[in-house]
Amino acid sequence: MNQGVLIARLAGVRIRAHWSVVVIAALLTWGLGAGVIPVALPRTPAVVAWLAAAVGALLLIASLTAHELAHSIVARRRGVQADDITLWVFGGVSHIRGDWQSARTELLVAAAGPLVTFVVAVLCFAVSEVMAVAGAPDLLVLLAQWLAAINATLLVFNLIPAFPLDGGRILRSALWARRHDRSRATVIAAQIGRAFGFLIVGLGMLDVLLTGSFGGVWLMLIGWFLAGAARNEQRGEAVRASLAGARVAEVMSINPATVPSWVTVDLFLKHYASPARTAYPTNGLDGRVDGLVTVNALRRVPPSQRTTRRLSEVFVPVDQVPAARPDELVTDALTRVGRQSEGHTLVFDGERFVGVISPADIGRRIQFGVPKPPPLSTPAPGLPPVV
Ligand SMILES: [Zn+2]
Repeated sequence: MNQGVLIARLAGVRIRAHWSVVVIAALLTWGLGAGVIPVALPRTPAVVAWLAAAVGALLLIASLTAHELAHSIVARRRGVQADDITLWVFGGVSHIRGDWQSARTELLVAAAGPLVTFVVAVLCFAVSEVMAVAGAPDLLVLLAQWLAAINATLLVFNLIPAFPLDGGRILRSALWARRHDRSRATVIAAQIGRAFGFLIVGLGMLDVLLTGSFGGVWLMLIGWFLAGAARNEQRGEAVRASLAGARVAEVMSINPATVPSWVTVDLFLKHYASPARTAYPTNGLDGRVDGLVTVNALRRVPPSQRTTRRLSEVFVPVDQVPAARPDELVTDALTRVGRQSEGHTLVFDGERFVGVISPADIGRRIQFGVPKPPPLSTPAPGLPPVV
């Protein structure tokens, strides 16, 4: 989902279009061109109606982008990493990679999007009114009214306090600020989010059964997506909570052996591969770590090429593998992990390579945890009180 064609870069944020954005653009154009315009203005020539519909769809996608951009810009101002927006079938997604740090930051970032949508809706409504008074063509007035109405509807939907909708994020940050317990706040907001998602699925089913309309299928898809996203947020929070305060050095696999990057895939499989590992750091001729080769990347090499291709032809170069320091918080390091290195992070103490964090290391930590240090405030029974 973090992929797609780069279409613009605004305020330091990359805006990408996933192929599925074409689906939403087509649906919007169809809704306007075959529904709204012919019903409201039946005398509009078909070509004009479809052209206006396409323009309307693009303007709506632009207003969705403005909403996401507001989230990203406020996040960046508050020191949270947010470099990408992806436009896709359900609108836009801001990829916020950094951690929220505080309830206030999450509240401001969550509220920024709906605020922009509110402004857009009011502006479109004002423009439609001014154009109507000034005697502008009815089609233009209708487009502005439609943009105002859709943005207003999206605003109301977005403010429903169901995670991960913006309303749910606002609720989570408010609960978090009040109770000082982020995990509990997330569980509550995510449970409401899941319940709401299933409610939407149910409504969609009812709609399909009663009217047989396509809109019901769409509702079911949105509900399913919301319920899944709420569950992922809850899981992510559980991971974050169990890693809270842990340093990279406590979690990483220490000094894993590196493999020369010039050996062939065949040689590697015969002499170095172990069934327990999913990735191997590699070293160049100078002995320095020069990349990371994943088992999945090796699997993609056809058997006929295994004796000729070297690891350096299939590995991820070291400058593209996320790196961390041993004293860093694991939760901070994890915000950088990417798909290319399949969740692996190389750990360097200055120039020296000291370890790797793999998804298995994180899993182990979550599963077994760490012994909690004894509380400092209450002395163990039997010990003399400290004066
Ligand atoms: Zn939003």
